[in-house]
Amino acid sequence: MKERHLIDLRSWKGIRTVLQLQLMVAFVIAVLILKQWWFCVLMIALGGILAAFRGKIWCGLLCPNGGFIDILWSRLSLRLLPFPRWLTRGRLLQGAFFVGMIGYFAWIVWYVNVHKGLPLAYGSYAQHGYLFLRFCQVMLALAAVTAVLFEPRTFCAHLCPGGTLGSLMATATSRSPVTIDSDKCVGCRLCTSVCDAPDRLLEPLIAKAQAAKASGKRAIIAVSPECYGCLDCVAACPRQALRIETLGLEKKGEKTEEETS
Ligand code: SF4
Ligand code: SF4
Ligand code: SF4
Repeated sequence: MKERHLIDLRSWKGIRTVLQLQLMVAFVIAVLILKQWWFCVLMIALGGILAAFRGKIWCGLLCPNGGFIDILWSRLSLRLLPFPRWLTRGRLLQGAFFVGMIGYFAWIVWYVNVHKGLPLAYGSYAQHGYLFLRFCQVMLALAAVTAVLFEPRTFCAHLCPGGTLGSLMATATSRSPVTIDSDKCVGCRLCTSVCDAPDRLLEPLIAKAQAAKASGKRAIIAVSPECYGCLDCVAACPRQALRIETLGLEKKGEKTEEETS
């Protein structure tokens, strides 16, 4: 059958780069030049809120740190080592970073707003700015170092507290950015060649799609909420089997399997 791409991969990557660049420029101006601490908090909050509606699409299309990784650090990545498995076991490291972030924010609120007193705190920009900006800088530096040493999106997959918040929101609301239509999938695996985490994200989907097909059923299957929504796989699929998730579709998922006649 003739290949039908929704959009060719190169054009999609160009669009994605433009989207990421906009937020990167805003981040550099707001955080690194103007030292506006609230911009960091806004970024984390927006990522979490968006995840409740469309999975971690923030991470793939908008996050400035993700943009730095994709546009800059991935080009310098030495991919020297696989990220140590013992560090990812039971998501302990990810959990520790997330609890650390919540604790750190709680401490900032206590230290600046309660301990120092509200009027004084809001009158003192430097206290907010110093602490939040430090947080942003540490996240940027960790993302850069891990991207250069390991796979580019290592920080996103195993460390980022903002990404963990997005995963929690996406899991709680059963949202993910992409679904696969078993009827259309031919198992060519072109999609896995563009995904940073094919074994965790796309392989299980393709296997399920093939199993549904073999049993004569149709299944619309949602990718894991861990997917960071770059949508490269959607552009790469020659059969339009991967689609941007329609709100609520994944809830029906395999329950709405239809018999193919
Ligand atoms: S995981 Fe974190 S750093 Fe990576 S794109 Fe998402 S919010 Fe940004
Ligand atoms: S989803 Fe598309 S690209 Fe991936 S294996 Fe199926 S047909 Fe191929
Ligand atoms: S599954 Fe698709 S959208 Fe999700 S990270 Fe992989 S390539 Fe990107």
